[in-house]
Amino acid sequence: MREYALSNEMGSSLVVAPLLTIPTILVLSVAYGLLIPNIARHVYFSRDPVVGFFNPLPYLTIVLLFVFIALAGWLLNKTMLASKCRNTTFASRLGLVLALLFIHSAWSAFLGSWQWQLSPLRGLIGPLSHVTSFFFDPLLVWNTAMELLDEGWFTIFGMQPSGLVLAGFWLVEAAIMGLGIWGATRNSLHEEVFCEACNAWTSLKQDDRRCVIPDSAPEIERIQKGDMDAIAGLPLLPEMGSDDAVPHFRFNLHECSTCRRTRTLDIEVVKYEEAKGKVTENVEDFSSVFVMDGADYDKYTAQGAASAPPSGAS
Ligand SMILES: [Zn+2]
Repeated sequence: MREYALSNEMGSSLVVAPLLTIPTILVLSVAYGLLIPNIARHVYFSRDPVVGFFNPLPYLTIVLLFVFIALAGWLLNKTMLASKCRNTTFASRLGLVLALLFIHSAWSAFLGSWQWQLSPLRGLIGPLSHVTSFFFDPLLVWNTAMELLDEGWFTIFGMQPSGLVLAGFWLVEAAIMGLGIWGATRNSLHEEVFCEACNAWTSLKQDDRRCVIPDSAPEIERIQKGDMDAIAGLPLLPEMGSDDAVPHFRFNLHECSTCRRTRTLDIEVVKYEEAKGKVTENVEDFSSVFVMDGADYDKYTAQGAASAPPSGAS
């Protein structure tokens, strides 16, 4: 089988993707940036959120960060697919812009809200005017962050992290934001298959076929290169109990639900890892995505029919 490649067509993504993703990123990053100092203020009833020994704020920040990045990633993925973008270069570049925007906007919101809390006008105006003045002045963001870095702003375990220690926290936080947003946008097209004839994404047919990994290295190589005769010759995995879980191949079959002609196959390796008496399934990509023609598909279905495991077993 030959390797499948996305067509590089843009769909409506050049207009639709920025139009939908930029506001999404702005709302989420500002909400994240505003939450941290405001939680500190409301939880501790203090303008200056310097808190005690067991300070939950840093842990809460980490949880919030992952919640916001996961939500943003999910929305970005849906938007990229809805815009029918098949161009990974565009997805990657847009992801990079969105990642930088998220970091800058979250920082503007955090510093704006911080400055607003210390402002004598706090009772009269909301924090957003401070946030926008930071947003449109990156140099102000940088200088204010450097001032904050000198003294630190929260205490934990009786210390107030500042200087290099605090800078380290910030770098880790920025890396999680940046890589999370960039990765989610980029990977939204990973192993997705588009039917150009029907102008639609194909759907994944999870037939959950599992096959034994052969012993011979050349055989494994043929399978990895998408040799359908080698794939169709694989014995199906016998039904297993949870005790004798062995590594095996699993197949992802994409099919266009309209024409049923655009079909692809990709192979994963399922491994099991045991920790603390609990076995977890670990799935890794094994092959690229291959285009199946009619003959390939016939061979693939014949294999499933010929050696199907007894039904009814779980
Ligand atoms: Zn189709």
